[in-house]
Amino acid sequence: MAISAFRCMKRAHFDYRIKKIELPEFALLMGNAMRENSMLMYGEGVDLTHIMSRKDSLKATMDALNNSETNIIYEAAFEWNDVFVRVDVLRRVSDYEWDIIEVKSGKKISERHLLDISIQKEIAVNSDMIEVHGCYLAVINPEFIFDGNSYENILEEHKVGIGKKLLWGSARLEEFIEILKSDIIENDIAPAVETGPQCRSPSPCSYIHLCHKYTAEVPISILPRVGNKLAKEWANRNVFDLREIPRESLNKPHLQRIWDCHVENKSWKDPQIKIVLQNLAWPRYFIDFETIQQTKPLILNTKPLDAVPFQWSVHCWEEEHAELEEGQSFLQYLGSDIHVNFLTSLLQAVGTSGPIFVHNVGTERGVLQKLIKREECTHLTDKTNKVISRMIDTLPLTRNHFYSPAMMGSYSLKNIVKAIPTTVQYSGDNGGLVKDGMDAQCAWFHHVDATTNAAKKERYTNDLIEYCAKDTIALVDLIKHLSKD
Ligand code: SF4
Repeated sequence: MAISAFRCMKRAHFDYRIKKIELPEFALLMGNAMRENSMLMYGEGVDLTHIMSRKDSLKATMDALNNSETNIIYEAAFEWNDVFVRVDVLRRVSDYEWDIIEVKSGKKISERHLLDISIQKEIAVNSDMIEVHGCYLAVINPEFIFDGNSYENILEEHKVGIGKKLLWGSARLEEFIEILKSDIIENDIAPAVETGPQCRSPSPCSYIHLCHKYTAEVPISILPRVGNKLAKEWANRNVFDLREIPRESLNKPHLQRIWDCHVENKSWKDPQIKIVLQNLAWPRYFIDFETIQQTKPLILNTKPLDAVPFQWSVHCWEEEHAELEEGQSFLQYLGSDIHVNFLTSLLQAVGTSGPIFVHNVGTERGVLQKLIKREECTHLTDKTNKVISRMIDTLPLTRNHFYSPAMMGSYSLKNIVKAIPTTVQYSGDNGGLVKDGMDAQCAWFHHVDATTNAAKKERYTNDLIEYCAKDTIALVDLIKHLSKD
């Protein structure tokens, strides 16, 4: 709750009242992989991760501290002044002195990490259970490349200066705890906090539905890029709904267009787009990639958190009156040949001519540009560059030529399909286990997990193929829709 409060007091209120802090599945899987990384780095020790109750974990921590043969403790528990913390790694320095190490899944140290470890240190010191010798933050080593054998140096440790201004002192922490008690614990009413950047960073807040409930049917915040800023300005005048602000207050034509569509409750399509699309060559291809960010790399010669492509889907539409051909796909989870297999099969699937539609081209283009830098793929550079030059980004194409109130300010494919004739559905009964890119990464994590049974693995594979194909079918339906009157 205390860490939540740094981000948003209202979030801390919900954490305390709802008492259910739901982390997205992907964050949990990343957390588990980071725990594995810390165990590879710090070695054998007493692991208290599985002990969930406050009382039991405090007792188990005390037992481990009192055992002179224990040098490393994972998830040690400390309590002071009703604040309870778990420390990622405790490392013995002497009989009574221990290092506190917090393991973070990014490559850089943030202010939030420093606040986090400050609290851990103050609670541990004031609990009188240990003396703290040093505080360290361990983050992903950006230079680490998996050689197929060793994970040595996958993390790098940074010492955090005890007593320096970045770390909190007991007095300041006590004051903060008092504020939490009076404003959160003893007060039933949620603090008045406006939605803003804190709702999305460092990860989407799971209480957004509770906060947006009080705004409007068409919140001003849906406007791309400027929405949150404008929403705050208009909230000062008690205006929350986009349709209630004057059209002239929006200074860009595309924002005014969104306003028009919501006020009139009808879609807009630029008639010019039909002509632009009619002039494009045939056949037309539609592609989509899925990538995995491995926290603990399992694929040879890859780095932690690099986006490694492991799946593609391609649909080919031969000519205007032809039925859409059955889609092609590639899916490989592991293996030193994953990169070259991905690229070789893709180059075959997209042929040598015709436009290639892709939504938000930066991701796919970036993946291909990185692939051809790999030693095993350099011989495919010319062919790959030709494929890149055929790509047409449907994101700006849609943004400049189409909008529907059903999209609620978003040009993601998931929202576009709500506004066009299509059979594609990302949610509901036929949504499967994989409904978005995060789910696709979770499916990868589960599939490579040795404890996942064969039936479940097959289900993940089928759902991944189905999901990726949905994106390319949705692209086909988008282009068909934009090509009509
Ligand atoms: S959605 Fe935003 S304002 Fe609401 S609790 Fe979360 S961070 Fe706070």
